[in-house]
Amino acid sequence: MLEFRVDEAGTSGHNTRQREFDLAIIGAGPAGLTAGLYAGRAQLSTVIFDRGTIGGQLTLTDRVDNYPGFPEGISAADLIHRFRKHAENFGARIVLEEIQKIEPLDDGTFYLWGLEKEPYHAKAVILAMGSRPRTLNVPGEKEFAGRGVSYCAVCDGPFFKDQPVAVVGGGDSAFEEGLYLSKIVSKVTLIHRRDEFRAAPIFVEQARNNPKFEFVLNSVVEEIFGDSKVRGVRVRNRQTGEVKEIPVEAVFIFIGHIPNTDLVKGLVDLDEQGHVITDEHMRTSVPGIFAAGDLRNTPIRQVTTAAGDATIAVYTAQEYIREVEARLKHHARTG
Ligand code: NAP
Repeated sequence: MLEFRVDEAGTSGHNTRQREFDLAIIGAGPAGLTAGLYAGRAQLSTVIFDRGTIGGQLTLTDRVDNYPGFPEGISAADLIHRFRKHAENFGARIVLEEIQKIEPLDDGTFYLWGLEKEPYHAKAVILAMGSRPRTLNVPGEKEFAGRGVSYCAVCDGPFFKDQPVAVVGGGDSAFEEGLYLSKIVSKVTLIHRRDEFRAAPIFVEQARNNPKFEFVLNSVVEEIFGDSKVRGVRVRNRQTGEVKEIPVEAVFIFIGHIPNTDLVKGLVDLDEQGHVITDEHMRTSVPGIFAAGDLRNTPIRQVTTAAGDATIAVYTAQEYIREVEARLKHHARTG
C-alpha cells in the first residue's frame, strides 16, 4: 500500500490534510450531497469532490416546488444550502477539486487523481457528476453566449426585464424556466420542434393560460442573429418549410442535458447517450464504483430521484466497503 503525503487541500470538514477515505463521491449536486449525508451518517469517512459550484443543476433554477416537505416550494439556493449543511453535519468533507482519473487497484480500492502529484485513496466511489445543458449548435449560439444566449433563466433573466425573449424546448425545463421568465420579461416565445410536449401537463396548462406566452410549434431555430447582442431568431416550420424571423433580446435554450461522464469513458459501461449503466443497486460495471442521479441511465431525472439513487448507492457501497475491509484484514493477517 502506498504511503500518502498529506497536504492542505480542502474547503470544509475537520481534517483538511486527509487523503484516505472510505468513500469518495464525485459531484456535489443533490445526488452527491445526499450520498454524503447517508455515508457520513453511516460513519464512513467521506469526501465529496466538485470542480465548480456546489448544487449542480439546481444552481441553474430559481425555485423547487416538488421536493417533499416544502409545500410552499423552496428557493433552489436554500435547498442546496440545506443539502450541503446536512451532509457536512454528518461529517462529509467537501473538496473543490476536479478529479481527472479514477484508477482501480488490485485490492479493490481506488486512487482518485486530481491536479496534484499524489492521489486520493478510497475504498469505494460514487459517481454523481450530473449533466450539463445540451446546445442547439446553430449559427449565433456560440457567438452570442453571454450576450443574449443563455442556459440559465435565474442567472440571466433579470437582464431582460420587460423585453421579449425566446425559450427553446418542450420539456419540463423549458416550461418551468419560461414561466419563471414570464414574471420578468415582456413576452416569452416558446419554440418547440413538435406540437406535443414532454413537459408535465401542469406546466403546459400554466403556460397556455399565461398571456405573456406565445407558442411557435413544429419549428426549429436555424440561426440566432444580432449585432453587439441578440436581436432575434430565425426559425423554420418543419411542416410548411416557412422561415420567419422573431425579434427577441435573448434566447434561453432548454433542450435537455448531456451526462458529465467523460471522466469514466472506457472505465465503466455507458449507454449510447453516455449515461452510466447501473443495476437497481446502483452498481456500475466496475465493482466498487456506483452511480447516482442525472448521469445514470434512468427514465426520470428529478431531485427526488437523485436523492433516492444516492441512498441506494450508499447502502450498496457500504456492503462493498465491508467486503474490501474484510479482504484487506485477511491479507494483512496471512501476509
Ligand atoms: P427533456 O425532458 O429531455 O426535454 C428536452 C426538450 O428539448 C424536448 O422537448 C426535446 O424535444 C427538445 N430538444 C432536444 N434536442 C433538441 C434539439 N436539438 N433542438 C430542438 N429541441 C430539442 O429535458 P429537460 O426539460 O431539461 O428535463 C430534463 C429532466 O429533468 C427531465 O427528466 C425532466 O422531467 C426533469 N426536470 C424536472 C423538473 C421539475 O419536475 N420541476 C424541472 C426541470 C427538469 P422532443 O420532445 O421533440 O424530443
